[in-house]
Amino acid sequence: IFYLHVAPLHGSGQGGGAVVIMRDITERRNMEQMRSEFVANVSHELRTPLTSIRGFVETLLESGTDDPEMNKHFLEIIADETRRLSNLVEELLNLSKIEERRVVHRWRQVTIGELMDRALAVCGERAEAKQIAVKANIPARLPPFYGDPDMLAQVLINLMDNAIKYTPAGGSVTVSTSLYGDELRLDVVDTGAGIAAESLPRIFERFYRVEKARSREWGGTGLGLAIVKHIIKGHGGRIEVKSAVGKGTTFSVFLPMDSPENS
Ligand code: ADP
Repeated sequence: IFYLHVAPLHGSGQGGGAVVIMRDITERRNMEQMRSEFVANVSHELRTPLTSIRGFVETLLESGTDDPEMNKHFLEIIADETRRLSNLVEELLNLSKIEERRVVHRWRQVTIGELMDRALAVCGERAEAKQIAVKANIPARLPPFYGDPDMLAQVLINLMDNAIKYTPAGGSVTVSTSLYGDELRLDVVDTGAGIAAESLPRIFERFYRVEKARSREWGGTGLGLAIVKHIIKGHGGRIEVKSAVGKGTTFSVFLPMDSPENS
């Protein structure tokens, strides 16, 4: 039906309509392509742990081993893979809820302090175990800002979790906030592995991981930053990243102080 409306581009008046329709078709195609890539990625991500679980369960069922240590080792792998599978499904559900805006944003006044407390409750232990110093650089007096506290805590958790995950033991993670024009700026700075320039534009894509095998070892799903991006977009903000390989990475989140939902 769309094709029937395509008018000659050099015609007067109708031309603009044709351009819009063409763009509509292209956007639909892009969406379809993205969707089918997504389904292919999800299937792959789900199949890998399932194949491994099935392999170890079958080995244990068929022969078992006389070695209780070995049996325990196999069961631990099964437990790990099952955990990874549940994390993945959990994050997929989160992402699709956010993308479809089915999550009703609970807009209210938020403080960086409360977001930080929540993020530390989740990430603090891991940082400690890796002997990574977590520092907070938060001015005492920041004007109030508005947003969905659960969603914004998720942003900080995902960024801090990555910073801790991709920083070797003994490094540091610093969270700073400041006012940047009429925006609130939140930086998460780490002294970790860094990200190569050619990978930077892709890290917010779903399932994109710089080093697939190593990221898996570190327990990543490749969905964390996609979730971050969508939440920030939902708040009318933006995110930037700067990185130097071997030195560290800085993620900077900019949020409007006065959200559109609030005015
Ligand atoms: P994952 O679950 O794999 O961490 P993310 O979407 O959170 O997925 O991140 C995508 C990829 O970006 C990661 O696999 C990692 O390669 C890279 N990355 C993200 N944050 C950092 C960081 N702070 N330092 C180095 N690399 C990072």
